[in-house]
Amino acid sequence: MCGIIGYVGGKSAAPILLDGLEKLEYRGYDSAGIAVINSNELNVIKTAKRIADLKGITQNGSTTKGNIGIGHTRWATHGAPTETNAHPHISYGGNFAVVHNGIIENYLPLKNELILKGVNFKSETDTEVIAHLLEFNFKGDVFDCIKNTISVLSGSYALGILYLNSPDTLYAVKNFSPLIAGVGVTENFIASDITPLIPHTKDVIYLKDKEIAVITGDSLNIFDLSGKPKSPKIERITGSAESVEKGGYDHFMMKEIKEQPPVILKTATPHIKDGRVVFDGLNLTKEKIKDIKKIVITACGSAYHTGMVAKYVFEQLLKIPVSVDLASEFRYQNPVVDQNTLVIVISQSGETADTLAALNKAKDKGAYTLGIVNVKGSSIAKACHDTLFTGAGSEISVATTKAYSAQLIILYLFAVFMAGHLGTSDEKLRAALLNEIMTLPQKVQEIFMLEENIKALAKKHHTITDAFFIGRNLDYAVALEGALKLKEISYINCLGMAAGELKHGTISLIENGTFVLALAMYEKLNDKMLSNIKEVKARGANVLVVTFKGNNTFLGAADDIIYLPKTHPLLTPSLAVIPLQIFAYYIALFRGADIDKPRNLAKSVTVE
Ligand code: GLU
Repeated sequence: MCGIIGYVGGKSAAPILLDGLEKLEYRGYDSAGIAVINSNELNVIKTAKRIADLKGITQNGSTTKGNIGIGHTRWATHGAPTETNAHPHISYGGNFAVVHNGIIENYLPLKNELILKGVNFKSETDTEVIAHLLEFNFKGDVFDCIKNTISVLSGSYALGILYLNSPDTLYAVKNFSPLIAGVGVTENFIASDITPLIPHTKDVIYLKDKEIAVITGDSLNIFDLSGKPKSPKIERITGSAESVEKGGYDHFMMKEIKEQPPVILKTATPHIKDGRVVFDGLNLTKEKIKDIKKIVITACGSAYHTGMVAKYVFEQLLKIPVSVDLASEFRYQNPVVDQNTLVIVISQSGETADTLAALNKAKDKGAYTLGIVNVKGSSIAKACHDTLFTGAGSEISVATTKAYSAQLIILYLFAVFMAGHLGTSDEKLRAALLNEIMTLPQKVQEIFMLEENIKALAKKHHTITDAFFIGRNLDYAVALEGALKLKEISYINCLGMAAGELKHGTISLIENGTFVLALAMYEKLNDKMLSNIKEVKARGANVLVVTFKGNNTFLGAADDIIYLPKTHPLLTPSLAVIPLQIFAYYIALFRGADIDKPRNLAKSVTVE
């Protein structure tokens, strides 16, 4: 998880590292540190707190001199978030400094071996073995010692390495974890993603697994393990620094919620032409589509919830069986997928470790794989047979909002696209869906006008200790997402569930004042939802209903009702999720929670 950064060039490294780490903080913020070489000295500054603290200690980097350095913001996997466990880690001889993103799975035997050889460990991290191995393997050539060190590591890593006696050279290598080199003029960079690079350069190289980068201010050379130079492709990134700033909002989450109308438009527009869905460059042929007997969707967290929505939509439009699996489960199962299965993997970052592993498993079994990801150049995007990109732009808040909405849009469009090829749903329905998708931005905008009401409801409920989100059919999928949104940022114990399941156990938890949020956008099952609402009301629940305008079914039955614009029944998740995001945001705000950086979490989950 974590973010790493490195700089070498003519400028003072520390301020660049610290500003960069701030942009990477969404990846982890348990603790942080930098190491800078100056006049043959390795200066290491660490904190068990956040980058802001590191900035304070170093007066925004001004007290730490030197033109080469590495930095890290941590999401702890091995060892508590203490100053000692914070990166960079230094080798026993004091010659190497390392920052690491990932997990060294065989660190324990390596550590024990080093201890037997007399090496003293200071931290509980897996990373520290790397620093000591570098020193241990050093026989006069840094490249060789990096090569020999990584040859014994198993697991995932992106590493930034400094060697004290090469004060002009930064080294980097990766395996599974992402790492990008930024190509500047008389300065060069490494970083976990492009956001910290944008203010400095738009030219980047996506490092490949087990390539070693040897970087100075004037040169950026990449070698394979045999020492053969590679000619990497320099890619030009699009997007501005402003696109990753808060833009006047107090939190990225609210900014990103408000960006959903343009994101929906930007995601849908390029794919709707003359009333049809087109995906330029898709390799999935008409013949291949006809061979598909089954669709498996696999993902984690909110992306899994969009997969749940897709199951209902696909089955209705395509008449093909669809199953939705959590990637962390799928990867360790023996799934029944073959060359007639389309496996769809969904991940905002395109780096989600469990989803990547699930994808590889599906490929091994011969399935055709389609990725739905937000980040171009990401590992999942590269590994899938086909990838459809969501147009969400950078999403910084840990709790996803706009990326979730963009995933839904791509899934709807893909359903219409497939139905067109298979002829499994009539043209009128497909056209109606496409027309309606284009009205969603306006309808989301209308929901924003309810913000004050939703805020008042959040005020009313912000002290609750438990919340139950219930729904049926597509509303069930949205209930799961609503519960996740609220729990992850407010730390309230929330459960999303199928309303019909209440009576099979969970209703025993309902008592006087228990908060229940009932989603009732799916008109067909209105009466069933009304019964479920009455059941929980009878036991004292405080019920907030989310339904569409003009639906009077719940008047008198619910304590509060949020009315949303009406849309096609299959598209209701795109609207129903919006008030739940706003509700979660304000509850977290009233509870004084750290909205963009909830405890124990990180944005892109690149570890298991
Ligand atoms: N496994 C390392 C640690 O726990 C790195 C984790 C990360 O990627 O932040 O320190």
